[in-house]
Amino acid sequence: MKQAESGLMERFLFRIAKQWIAGDTMEQALESARLANKHGMDAIINKLGEHMTSKNQIENTVSEYLVLVSNLHKSKVEGGVSIKPTQIGLSKNKNECAENFGKIIENASLSQSFVWIDMESSEYTDDTIGIYNDLFDKYERLGIALQANLKRTSKDLSELLKKGAKVRLVKGAYHEDKKTAFQTRKEVDENYKKLMEMLFVNGNEFGIATHDSKLIDEATQLYKTHEKKFEFQMLKGIRDELKPILVKKGFSVSEYIPYGTNWLPYSIRRLKERKRNILLLGSSFIHSHRV
Ligand SMILES: Cc1cc2nc3c(=O)[nH]c(=O)nc-3n(C[C@H](O)[C@H](O)[C@H](O)COP(=O)(O)OP(=O)(O)OC[C@H]3O[C@@H](n4cnc5c(N)ncnc54)[C@H](O)[C@@H]3O)c2cc1C
Repeated sequence: MKQAESGLMERFLFRIAKQWIAGDTMEQALESARLANKHGMDAIINKLGEHMTSKNQIENTVSEYLVLVSNLHKSKVEGGVSIKPTQIGLSKNKNECAENFGKIIENASLSQSFVWIDMESSEYTDDTIGIYNDLFDKYERLGIALQANLKRTSKDLSELLKKGAKVRLVKGAYHEDKKTAFQTRKEVDENYKKLMEMLFVNGNEFGIATHDSKLIDEATQLYKTHEKKFEFQMLKGIRDELKPILVKKGFSVSEYIPYGTNWLPYSIRRLKERKRNILLLGSSFIHSHRV
């Protein structure tokens, strides 16, 4: 694609993407978080960005999270942050990433803010779990995302639950090969169900992070027999009609709120999750060419 065409496409994509993103700045993210709080939900704020390798970029991201974690407390926002390991150094070096998480966690512990570690593609799973295990020994308000599409996750979850780990269960947003991951929606959903049962039976303080009504219903059924502390987690701008219903029923719900200028990779993952979003992109493009 020529540069002008790709710029045009990016502008159309942004029209759709902005429903999922709070804005460019931390203040906009905090505003969005306050709105979530007003609607009875906690907020999980993420600064967009991944696969950073420049020293400057990584240092700036860490500094931003340090400020964000303090601002959450100062602005009386209920919730925490969620961080992608590769935005604070994992694509460069595991130790550097662990040190950076250590700094953020030290700040978070002053305000008792919750820190989630996002899970990225499977080449990072071992390191991410390794970092989590080391840090969880020092700070308990720390959670890790696990992906139901990965074949290894059942084993990872059993091990993590033995330590009392706090887990966010997701379906998985990254394309993985046959050897590593279940390929069909049916297989992924079945595995999600199985892992969710493990969480209700052996876990506590976990996140059921899905917009899938069938799985959400399943979780509410499991709760009837296993009264565990858990929350539903959903992304900003998705299933907004369902969030207040769950809150009204008395369930804890958190909204994941990304912000920042690096919105493209996140938005492409959201677009790919639903055919209708691709159609929306197409129709937005066509409409803009009518006049
Ligand atoms: C709080 C949270 C944190 C996450 N963290 C991670 C992470 O750390 N690592 C990771 O790999 N993945 C993460 N994900 C993404 C996750 O892996 C899935 O890719 C994503 O949630 C879509 O799967 P689903 O469970 O909603 O089910 P799906 O089967 O994809 O969707 C179920 C229904 O939800 C609605 N829906 C889903 N996606 C969209 C969309 N984009 N636009 C409009 N409607 C939609 C539709 O009604 C759809 O029928 C996270 C998701 C959430 C909610």
